Amino acid sequence: MRQKIVAGNWKMHKNAEETEDLLNELIAKLPNDVEAQVIVAPTFINLASAVDHLEFTNIAVAAQNMSQFESGAYTGEISADMLKSVGVNIVILGHSERRAYFHETDFILADKVTTALSHNMTVIFCFGEELKDRQNNQHFNVVENQLRDGLFHIKDKDWEQIVLAYEPVWAIGTGETASPEQAQEMHKFIRETVRQRFGSNIAEDVSILYGGSVKPENAKEIFTKPDVDGGLIGGAALKASDFAAIVSSL
Ligand code: PGA
Repeated sequence: MRQKIVAGNWKMHKNAEETEDLLNELIAKLPNDVEAQVIVAPTFINLASAVDHLEFTNIAVAAQNMSQFESGAYTGEISADMLKSVGVNIVILGHSERRAYFHETDFILADKVTTALSHNMTVIFCFGEELKDRQNNQHFNVVENQLRDGLFHIKDKDWEQIVLAYEPVWAIGTGETASPEQAQEMHKFIRETVRQRFGSNIAEDVSILYGGSVKPENAKEIFTKPDVDGGLIGGAALKASDFAAIVSSL
């Protein structure tokens, strides 16, 4: 069964105290009766406290990144085992900021996906074209290649642990959103691409989130599209009332 999901990517925002404050506000403001899975992704150093804080809630905690390596001399890195040891079972991989600023290629991401799955983690796999790709009418090709090179090495059974997040780079943090029609067109293409390779059951069951300047004002229209199963929210996830309003739009 396809699940509705709203995930908040906090990026490099909120220190320890601010993390706690925002979590408290979220607990107070999030509607109780939502069917969607709600996920928040604070920074690495605040993950353990977030897990503790959210223990008796329906809000799950994700990491924003993870090493492809198991352990060893990799200064500054965080492993899957470390995340799991503090109760984090979900990881965002392939965010465009990781790809652009930290040079994570599709091939590195493929390794990260493999590592996460081998630890039984759920992966929110992000991908999406840049503005120039869309202007050159290459957006479908780019997305297909990102899926093929970063993700399609997995086995059929692994799809239970995969969530897709289509995030056109030109819409992230820019205030510019893909129109609901553009989002639907791409999500349909993504589902079809999964179907061709892995079959209808997997394609129908996988949740495909849209990300890129989702706000309370535009969430509902985007979420009503048949192949959009929720959102990955950046800026608007940092304000509890906005995030709660987006969750309520699903
Ligand atoms: P945004 O970020 O909502 O601020 O555009 C989305 C994301 O990067 O996941």
